[in-house]
Amino acid sequence: MSHKKKYLAVIALGLIGITLALVSYFVSPNPEIDTPIGSNLPTGRPDEQLATDPEVEAPGEAQITESTKYVREATIGRGATFSHVLATQLDFSSSQIHRLAEAVRPLMNVRKIDAGTKVKTTFVESTDQAGELVAEPVRVSMKISDRKTLIVTNLNEENPNAVIEEAVITSSTRAYSGAVNHSLWASASSAGMDPAIITSMAEIFAWQIDFNREVRANDRWRLVVEEVFANGKSIGYGDIVSAEYVNAGINYVAIKYELDDRTQYFQPDGDSLKRMFLKSPLKFGRITSGFQAQRFHPILKVNKAHLGVDYGAPTGTPVMSVGDGVVSFAGTRGGSGKMITVRHNAVYRTEYKHLSRYSENIRPGARVSMGQTIGYVGATGLATGPHLHFEFHEGSNVVDPQGMKFPTADPVPANLMADFLAKATSVVAQMPPWSALVLTKQDDEGKPSVEATTGLPEPVIR
Ligand SMILES: [Zn+2]
Repeated sequence: MSHKKKYLAVIALGLIGITLALVSYFVSPNPEIDTPIGSNLPTGRPDEQLATDPEVEAPGEAQITESTKYVREATIGRGATFSHVLATQLDFSSSQIHRLAEAVRPLMNVRKIDAGTKVKTTFVESTDQAGELVAEPVRVSMKISDRKTLIVTNLNEENPNAVIEEAVITSSTRAYSGAVNHSLWASASSAGMDPAIITSMAEIFAWQIDFNREVRANDRWRLVVEEVFANGKSIGYGDIVSAEYVNAGINYVAIKYELDDRTQYFQPDGDSLKRMFLKSPLKFGRITSGFQAQRFHPILKVNKAHLGVDYGAPTGTPVMSVGDGVVSFAGTRGGSGKMITVRHNAVYRTEYKHLSRYSENIRPGARVSMGQTIGYVGATGLATGPHLHFEFHEGSNVVDPQGMKFPTADPVPANLMADFLAKATSVVAQMPPWSALVLTKQDDEGKPSVEATTGLPEPVIR
């Protein structure tokens, strides 16, 4: 640029600036914080707070007449790196990226930023000695989680200052109640509750109720749940503190209690809600063959996985269901001979094979309890001699029951019982009274009529 051209450029810029200032003054209700026009850079909105921050001044000398601040936002896309986004979306120079990376390195791994994370950058724009508009990033803020925000300031200096700001986390409790009309899920929606909380409740009561099969119309529930806030803004729900579910007229109550640094749930009297399975389906009998991925089959003469545990015992030895559940199969099936399948909950089922016979009333749909005799040892199907082949299924996998760590079924320890009972009394009192629950019923003509439910017993704290 020649001297003359530069001179003209400065005048032209000045005129444009004055014109724009006038235009923005008359167009904008608040010209001080208006977005500058006429530059290819500003695509974001100005940051009011920063605009009054005295420490972020335009760099440079007396020739620089005026500086403008604005914020641009970029989003880290899937597979994109932090530095790539800075370079391509925010026009950072490689030295600016380097300074930023050095400042951030001790605080976090920028390679592990979730896709969708937004990077807000404050730029200071000024006219340099040559009359050119220069924009320099001075501050970056990036919300890396609901609870943490990375803030880097003084980006234009040799050693920028990086900190991770932790949100102030608070929590309070919310109470909900609902009645099953169409479905459990729908009951959560009509109660104005996030249906995801229903899933948590179903997990708590999974050992008592099979929520896939046993939910009945007019079942009802009520619960107290923690709501978590970051800087006063709700970021979701925490643990259920107390819950009650009335299934086909029977109530189940769960109270949260922290024990051994774990969140556990107990009945109001301190008993565990969880039922451990029996260690063995036979009172007497020894394991003759354990669970193995590979085994030489004595009859088929091939290497075959043994996905169960064999218990050697005389024909006629009683076989017990290892847990509460419902018989889903009782009959003959190929090499398994006479067998029984017991479904315990949505996750677990057990199978008992080579039986000589079944106990009375054991047929599909029959309810069985832990320890109940369901059949008798035999040698039906492919068996070299009388034994029980026992299988444990977790979801779609056959698992080694001896390697399984089932949840503890221990009650609240005696030395903590008084503390637990005091907490239980307090959280049960926080649950909405059943009388507050309004059931919508349909009358004979199919029109909804409203009826308040009463008469259900409140849970008793011993
Ligand atoms: Zn076997």
